[in-house]
Amino acid sequence: MVSAPSGAGKTTLLRALIARRPNLVFSVSWTTRAPRTGEHDGRDYHFVKAERFEAMRAAGEFLESATVFGHGYGTRAADVEELRTAGRDVVLEIDWQGARSVRRKEPEAVSVFILPPSRDILRERLADRGTDSEAVISRRMAAAANEIRHWNEYDYVVVNLDFARALQELEAVFEGRGENADRERAGLADFAATLLAAS
Ligand code: 5GP
Repeated sequence: MVSAPSGAGKTTLLRALIARRPNLVFSVSWTTRAPRTGEHDGRDYHFVKAERFEAMRAAGEFLESATVFGHGYGTRAADVEELRTAGRDVVLEIDWQGARSVRRKEPEAVSVFILPPSRDILRERLADRGTDSEAVISRRMAAAANEIRHWNEYDYVVVNLDFARALQELEAVFEGRGENADRERAGLADFAATLLAAS
């Protein structure tokens, strides 16, 4: 499973990874949020009404679920099972809360956290439309910080400083030859602190 704050370049990296490793596949999550322009039901998410989502949750259909930005998000256990039965390596793109639940239920699941290269670049990416107000950007930065705070719960950490290198590191993790972050935790802690520092 892979987590990252938005602005870390996670989606681009994962798409590139999947293009190189066709056996990897995303489990399509279920959400109560509305589709954004260009998103398709069944491809980007299964978009469902809150009532349906709650019914699924109550019926125990989710491997994990969480509320993110006020909306329900969840991974349906049967979706993952089906892909696994077909012999695929399943990637979950979920937030830190979901990652915690999966870790509890499936301790052998490998988790990766992707960090943005710097606070300035994170800020630039979160403001990339150029028309956002300072208040909107600050809110996005706070949400990113909320996710970044949990980097140390993950087996592997990839800093997306250089795209090609980050992709290689991610590929190594999925091939089971990733460099465990343990040796670098101290350095990463300093780095994460710079990302989290108040502006
Ligand atoms: P977005 O709405 O921008 O696509 O995603 C918002 C956040 O929800 C991201 O942090 C993403 O990783 C997380 N997310 C997406 N799907 C799931 C899911 O199935 N479970 C959990 N726990 N988080 C998810």
